[in-house]
Amino acid sequence: MAGKRTFTMIKPDAIGNGFMGAIIDHIIKAGFKVVALKYTRLTVEDAGKFYEIHKERPFYGELVNYMSSGPIVAAILEKENAVEAFRKTIGATDPTKADEGTIRKLYAKSIAANAVHGSDSDENAGIEGSFFFAKREICE
Ligand code: ATP
Ligand code: MG
Repeated sequence: MAGKRTFTMIKPDAIGNGFMGAIIDHIIKAGFKVVALKYTRLTVEDAGKFYEIHKERPFYGELVNYMSSGPIVAAILEKENAVEAFRKTIGATDPTKADEGTIRKLYAKSIAANAVHGSDSDENAGIEGSFFFAKREICE
């Protein structure tokens, strides 16, 4: 059965461009409940660990540098079938291919600086949420 939680980050480009509030609002209006939220920053080492699954991909170095280039917002979200529903809400990785009305279509500038992260499986949602939040920081 699909899980009810996913994990997201609002990426440095979206924070720098002033879209933090608009994106959080969009997420809530799309029916997600915020159960944990944090404004923070990744070191190069943190970003390297977070994106370890992409280590062999050609853009790994660029991705790690980019994700540690400025503050981010990390959050755990709840909704039925959360992972799939949230990926629909954010749109395709490349914002030029994202559907109208999606967060990436509205707020992302490029495939690298694409405004938001969304977990790709229930398992990764759990791992990624635990990367940022202690149990007591998650509000049921
Ligand atoms: P995310 O995991 O951030 O939600 P995604 O699942 O849509 O994005 P992935 O394939 O997991 O896409 O890639 C992770 C991130 O790596 C992308 O969000 C983007 O920031 C970056 N990325 C992906 N493809 C490229 C590329 N071709 N060039 C540069 N950066 C890329
Ligand atoms: Mg991904």
